[in-house]
Amino acid sequence: MQTQLLIGGRLVAGEGASESVLDAASGAEIAVVPGASEAQVEAAVAAAEAAFPGWARTAPRERAALLLRVAERLDSDAAAYAALESRNTGKPLAAALADELPAIADVFRFFAGACRAPNGLAAGEYLPGHTSMIRRDPVGVVASIAPWNYPLMMAAWKIAPAIAAGNTLILKPSEQTPLTALKLAALLAELLPAGVVNIACGRGEPVGRILTAHPRVRMVSLTGSVATGQKVLAAAGGNLKRTHLELGGKAPVIVFDDADIDALVEGVRTFGFYNAGQDCTAACRLYVGERVYERVVADLTAAVRTIKVGLQEEPGVEMGPLISQAQRERVAAMVARAGGRSAFLRPRSRG
Ligand code: NAD
Repeated sequence: MQTQLLIGGRLVAGEGASESVLDAASGAEIAVVPGASEAQVEAAVAAAEAAFPGWARTAPRERAALLLRVAERLDSDAAAYAALESRNTGKPLAAALADELPAIADVFRFFAGACRAPNGLAAGEYLPGHTSMIRRDPVGVVASIAPWNYPLMMAAWKIAPAIAAGNTLILKPSEQTPLTALKLAALLAELLPAGVVNIACGRGEPVGRILTAHPRVRMVSLTGSVATGQKVLAAAGGNLKRTHLELGGKAPVIVFDDADIDALVEGVRTFGFYNAGQDCTAACRLYVGERVYERVVADLTAAVRTIKVGLQEEPGVEMGPLISQAQRERVAAMVARAGGRSAFLRPRSRG
């Protein structure tokens, strides 16, 4: 199994703290991943900085060609990526293969096209005799920090747009789910110029903290919890880095009395429970009109009962194990609390 970091175009063994990476179903150890030491994080930033001037000058056509090659290779190795992702995260294998891997390859294809047709150009004569226009340039070294719920998808979302635009990057995957990003690291080491993408594993402390506070990093992108977003913003303030934060959500569904209830139930059964509900966009709160309330509760309860729960590889399984024992305990405690008082809050009568 590929457990080495990618720094300056080379795969190197981590010299920092090691992390035991687990099978979400059994808790069995899949691999031990040594994280980046502080010196290795520094080396990754230096490599990204050294690669930036050359990469920023490449024509979009060249960057697009490389992104398309990444996509092709992801397609041809999709089964192995899906198996690794499924085992580590608990996602049903069939969903990882059929839903996620094609979408991940498509992210690279999308940005291969997008970088050849940048939008947002506004040109005008704002001063007599002068033409002003917006020109999109890369910002430089970007540090990207990913969560555990879509590890390879997140890596694609972080890497593809940044390098398509001519930036160079250090990706820190979640310490719980680094394996597919590290498999991707071997591919990127082969395809991309040294230093354009670096992958440094480890925990928020110290790896994430060093990256987000680093004076040579120009932009930080985080997908994660609100608490981490607050820390990242504070760290990034030191040299006023650009920040891109995608944090936790509690997506509400508002159901009016004239809604199509069958469509609603089908939609919430899918989008509230996909990926075992571990989505920032999971439809996890419903506000339901008084007249349809009883029917929604009854129909949704019946529909959710049909979700097939099981191990990742089981045929037809729709919901695998949660990511970790800690999450399982957290969710179980919420279920226990909800059982103590009704999870369904009745609407106040207008009368
Ligand atoms: P988390 O915030 O605990 O961790 C996210 C990443 O941040 C990890 O790589 C972690 O190592 C790193 N990190 C932790 N502390 C850090 C620090 N001080 N400095 C820098 N990096 C640090 O989140 P998680 O539990 O891995 O992921 C689940 C969260 O992500 C949920 O809140 C979920 O809603 C959110 N999420 C949001 C989106 C979105 O698009 N808005 C998508 C997926 C997940």
